[in-house]
Amino acid sequence: MTAKVLLLNNENEPIRVCSWKKALLLVIKGKAEACKIIDELDYTIKCGEIEIPNIIRLNYEIAVPDLELPFCRENIYVRDDYTCQYCGKHFPASELTLDHVYPKSRLGPDIWENIVACCKSCNQYKADRTPKECGMKLRRRPYRPQKYMDFEFKKYKYESVYWQKFLSA
Ligand SMILES: [Zn+2]
Repeated sequence: MTAKVLLLNNENEPIRVCSWKKALLLVIKGKAEACKIIDELDYTIKCGEIEIPNIIRLNYEIAVPDLELPFCRENIYVRDDYTCQYCGKHFPASELTLDHVYPKSRLGPDIWENIVACCKSCNQYKADRTPKECGMKLRRRPYRPQKYMDFEFKKYKYESVYWQKFLSA
């Protein structure tokens, strides 16, 4: 089970997205409680016999942390909307790969600004060339996502429509 839970601080500001196991532990330890703000809605996730809320609120004060987004394959796919940044087509993760815009073989760095989601055929065609050298055009200049929570909302947007309520919180 991969269900995710939105964690709020005691002022209802989104802190982070965590696993349901972590959420359950916080509730059991009395550090957090089910968020009752939207209790007219069905906002629980089922885990076998256990039902846990998919929004929980810490019952102590904590500032919204300034978290760095992990630089990893999945997050690059999410940033690029699972879309090949050359041909613009949408693909499942299994049919995507990562492309170094400035080629790795020529010491192109492993950084957000140099890596994009790319379909296998565009990747094969591009090979060890820069986009300019092979006449390919990037759909969007790759960037480092700035706002951790905005990104998490994007990543898990299908997980819970109720989270949207806290987007501008
Ligand atoms: Zn492509």
